[in-house]
Amino acid sequence: MRFKVSDQIRSIKPYVAGKPIDELKRELQISHVIKLASNENPLGFSPYVYRAVISMLNDMNRYPDSSGYLLTQKIAQKYQVNPSNVVIGNGSDDLIALLSTAFLEQDDEAVMPYPTFLMYEITVKASKAKPVMVPLQDFGINLDSLLENITAKTKIVFITNPFNPTGSFISKDAFNDFMKKVPDNVLVIVDEAYIEFSRDQSIFNSLAAPLTDPRIISLRTFSKAYGLAGFRVGYGIMDNEISDIIQRIRQPFNVNSLGQAAACAAIEDLDFLQRSIDCVHTGIDFLTAGLKNLGLDVLPTESNFLMVNVKTDATRIFKKMLSLGVIVRSMQSYGFDTFLRINAGTRAENIECLKALETVLAEG
Ligand SMILES: *Cc1c(COP(=O)(O)O)cnc(C)c1O
Repeated sequence: MRFKVSDQIRSIKPYVAGKPIDELKRELQISHVIKLASNENPLGFSPYVYRAVISMLNDMNRYPDSSGYLLTQKIAQKYQVNPSNVVIGNGSDDLIALLSTAFLEQDDEAVMPYPTFLMYEITVKASKAKPVMVPLQDFGINLDSLLENITAKTKIVFITNPFNPTGSFISKDAFNDFMKKVPDNVLVIVDEAYIEFSRDQSIFNSLAAPLTDPRIISLRTFSKAYGLAGFRVGYGIMDNEISDIIQRIRQPFNVNSLGQAAACAAIEDLDFLQRSIDCVHTGIDFLTAGLKNLGLDVLPTESNFLMVNVKTDATRIFKKMLSLGVIVRSMQSYGFDTFLRINAGTRAENIECLKALETVLAEG
């Protein structure tokens, strides 16, 4: 191409999202499809959200509130931080990109576990910096190995807790030990997209941490536990000096009016949040038992999804399940050739998923 593009950008592999339900319906010409592939909320979202969004529709000729005033206030109140510590984003993906843009220069390095959520690698490369990928150990983040890979060029370390895709987690003790060895000028981005689902009391929770340790940035999202994935709302809690920088470079209207209204309503409905969490716990336990019954090995998980070893080519199984109208994820592209990732659905979805997998495995 005659237009110059940097090697980093050229090396980005396009993000592959979970297959959309409507796409599979079109392809197979069937009307019933279930999706347990993108860790979405099987219960939908709070009725408060529905009402708030309908009433916001009347104002959609106006630009959104660029400061996200109300939503920022509500988040700050919920987590007992100052509004100036909160930055909202068009999903937490947006915040990952903003942080990479703000803090990475050419030749800088960002250390991350491998394999993991692809947005870290993509945004680091888009910022012309170098992702340093540190292999997992026993399906979890290897904190010692992350530390060994920190150099004078390192500006950011990415941590996901609980971890996607394996469901493993980092304890308070392990994280605090880790932070003792992280240099003062390195930011540690803790992506807690799934933390609401964690049942282990020893898990590290970063929310109050940025106030005592400016290196730590917590990222959270309304996409999972609150069921607002389509609205695209995430937020970060960070030290004032960092939020001041991010506020300068974010698009003024990065969270649209419907997203702001939806998130403001969702954060008030604690009952829906609790039902969502309960549904995930029930679903994970049900799927785990059902998969073990099929003779399969399931990784323990603190999240709303689990990884299962189907002991054969996972992509082949994934495709056969697709033909039965069940969308899950093959973990082959993550290097886990025989693993599927399945998120907890409703009881009916979980039953259907187990049946489809049993049918497919019986075919050999
Ligand atoms: C789903 C997910 C997110 C959330 O992304 P949004 O942009 O907020 O929808 C962030 N990090 C990880 C690891 C995820 O799996």
